[in-house]
Amino acid sequence: MFEDAYLKTLVGFILGSIFGSFINVCATRIPLGKSVIHPPSSCPQCNVRIKWFHNLPIFSWLMLRGKAMCCNFEIPFRYIGVEFLTALLFGFFFYQYSLFGSESRLFVSLAFGFLMIVIIVIDLETMIIPDRFSMGGALLGLVCSAYFPLLHGFSSDPLFPERLSSVMTSLLGMIISSSVLFWIGAFAEKLMKQEALGQGDIKLLGCVGAFCGWEGGLFTIFAGALLGSIIMIPLMLVSKYLKLNKKNRRVEVGWGLEIPFGPFLGMAALAYFLGVHLYVDTWFEKTRLNFIHLFSFV
Ligand SMILES: [Zn+2]
Repeated sequence: MFEDAYLKTLVGFILGSIFGSFINVCATRIPLGKSVIHPPSSCPQCNVRIKWFHNLPIFSWLMLRGKAMCCNFEIPFRYIGVEFLTALLFGFFFYQYSLFGSESRLFVSLAFGFLMIVIIVIDLETMIIPDRFSMGGALLGLVCSAYFPLLHGFSSDPLFPERLSSVMTSLLGMIISSSVLFWIGAFAEKLMKQEALGQGDIKLLGCVGAFCGWEGGLFTIFAGALLGSIIMIPLMLVSKYLKLNKKNRRVEVGWGLEIPFGPFLGMAALAYFLGVHLYVDTWFEKTRLNFIHLFSFV
């Protein structure tokens, strides 16, 4: 039993590292409008084709210590970082699979994990969230809800009404989550007299809501904003201080500079999906019951 769990976790880890490698390819090529399948990987500096044994996820970066074989190109740390994080996430999902034994749950988890990581990485690199992941992800969320009704707490029996309820929950989650973020953005824009949110963030919330329901969507907006503030405000203060001192002109994070919101939203959504939903959903349920209690006295 235990060896079985370890083996499955290892399979997940290896699969995750391969998908992480693919995410790196996506993040490099999609913003340039290039195909993610063809041509095979080549060095970004001298264009020499990369040999397969220098292109293995995680392992090759460590073996080469982040230096390309063909020239003096330094392979960014991002490559091994993304591969390792995706490997950990997929390993965890496979570990869960060894506990619960549901292929549907595993597939849906892998799909959502892949979408969030690829969106986080591309938004960090380019400040763009490609539609194929946000809108495509929202559609995939609807399909996954029909395929795996337990995602929204409905029974997994092959009953049509259960699946339909799951799809409706997913659709509601998609519409409510993106609408709430849209209105927050619209009011923030009026207040600050500058663009506050990208279209990509609103579509991303549609994808999160389709997988996590409206509770997950609302949590993602709240926690994403909180996370963003916790990480960015100290950075902005430090960079302002550095700019005042004119010591380091290379620090580019500063007031008024555009900061991608997508990575924080993606991290919050992943946290919800990985387990925070237990607390968040209970909180929403308690609040709902309190309301009913309150109005029953009126
Ligand atoms: Zn090279």
